[in-house]
Amino acid sequence: MVVLNYINGKMQEAVSGLQLDNFEPATGNVYGHVADSDSADVQLAFEAANAAKSNWANTAAEEKFKWLNALADAIDADRENFAKAESRDQGKPLWLARNEMIRAAQNFRFFATAAMQFASESHAMENKAINYTLRQPVGVVGCISPWNLPLYLFSWKIAPALAAGNTVVAKPSEFTAATAHLLAETCIKIGFPAGVLNIVNGLGPKVGQAMVEHRGIKAISFTGGTSTGKHIAATAAPMFKKLSLELGGKNPNIIFDDADIEKALKTTINTSFLNQGEICLCGSRLLIHESIYDKVKNRIVEEAKKLKVGNPNNDDTRIGAIVSKPHFEKVLSYIELAKEEGGQILTGGAALNPEGCESGWFIEPTIIEGLGPKCRINTEEIFGPVISLLPFKDEEEALQLANATEYGLAATIWTENLTRAHRLAANLEFGIVWINCWLLRDLRTPFGGAKSSGVGREGGWEAMRFFTEPKNVCIALS
Ligand code: NAD
Repeated sequence: MVVLNYINGKMQEAVSGLQLDNFEPATGNVYGHVADSDSADVQLAFEAANAAKSNWANTAAEEKFKWLNALADAIDADRENFAKAESRDQGKPLWLARNEMIRAAQNFRFFATAAMQFASESHAMENKAINYTLRQPVGVVGCISPWNLPLYLFSWKIAPALAAGNTVVAKPSEFTAATAHLLAETCIKIGFPAGVLNIVNGLGPKVGQAMVEHRGIKAISFTGGTSTGKHIAATAAPMFKKLSLELGGKNPNIIFDDADIEKALKTTINTSFLNQGEICLCGSRLLIHESIYDKVKNRIVEEAKKLKVGNPNNDDTRIGAIVSKPHFEKVLSYIELAKEEGGQILTGGAALNPEGCESGWFIEPTIIEGLGPKCRINTEEIFGPVISLLPFKDEEEALQLANATEYGLAATIWTENLTRAHRLAANLEFGIVWINCWLLRDLRTPFGGAKSSGVGREGGWEAMRFFTEPKNVCIALS
């Protein structure tokens, strides 16, 4: 497969004609190419989006609803093809990719209804005046997404941007652009209006940077690493661009002694290792009350050992391949660091060569103990199938440990004591708190992180507000 740019309704090569190799994580082999674009392609995409801007902004909400629904229906109708492409490109198990394609279609469907329901406020000043707020599209906006949940997160940005009446220049990760390419083909198939959505492929420092630097692109919605987010903020701030930054995490998963332990364990195995631990919401620090520490430790190790690592196409595979060679090496280097820092590896800790995928990038689910909260293993984002266990003696210490990180994306609490759960939820410095569940998502809720995990929120009206500019109009009544 050659992943091309989608500009003004057409698939095109990068202006330079250059291409990047595209690797299949399960085999380590090059299986296709991706357009290696630069600022010239971003300019073409901007011009197309700018030309389509006024028409799309003035398209009736009902029409926008129809187009976004048509995209959702087309993804649903072609789900297996999308899922296979996602799994091959990213390394995740095929069954998981199928679930993510359901969510990608849902993102379009959810924001199709938002286009119909979005409203603004009016403020009456008794008999003096009335104010009303216009919420107008920002214009041409940029959406930049990462490699871990490729189409799921790409559509999570594009859908609200379009629903709010903007035209879009979007960039998927250079590591996982296959499903964005299929989305572009889908747009052509259903006759989606040209120029409304444009997709430019290539490297972050070339394409992403050119988007952030482009004065005509008025807002950037970015999901990715914290250091990239910092760089984007520094570039965009002097231009006063609207920015939504969804960044990294080092999430705590806290199990109290009064929790329903079996229920907590059943979810915790996913919280720790789903999608090879490459979900920004994964709980990489497992905090366990000291009275149940050994029991929980033994059980989680036992469960982790059962997880089948291997060919993403097999139904019984729980852990697929790591997305890229550099990321594979990074995760392994953290396991080495854990040993250097004095940690004990309770299970896993090594790369694997599963049958049929001997040259792929696989890592065993790995559990580490014996490291304090200040160790790099417990403060830096690893973003792989690696968790660290820490005991705590009481609620106060649990809170202190949970908050002892620069990140603030998501926290999970397991307890049957509701008073404690609410008290902790209020004091945890995280944008998302799950109590007795994990990854239970209502698309209407604010989604995003505190501290170094980001700025702004996605989801529901938050996203619709981000992608619109409020304008107050005041009319005197006398
Ligand atoms: P990354 O920051 O390396 O890349 C993300 C995207 O930004 C890619 O498309 C990349 O090409 C682009 N990019 C890179 N440099 C750029 C630049 N200078 N200007 C503009 N764009 C640039 O992140 P990644 O490695 O692809 O993804 C993993 C990270 O994403 C992890 O830190 C993870 O926690 C985070 N993440 C966060 C959330 C969330 O909702 N908070 C969700 C998923 C992933």
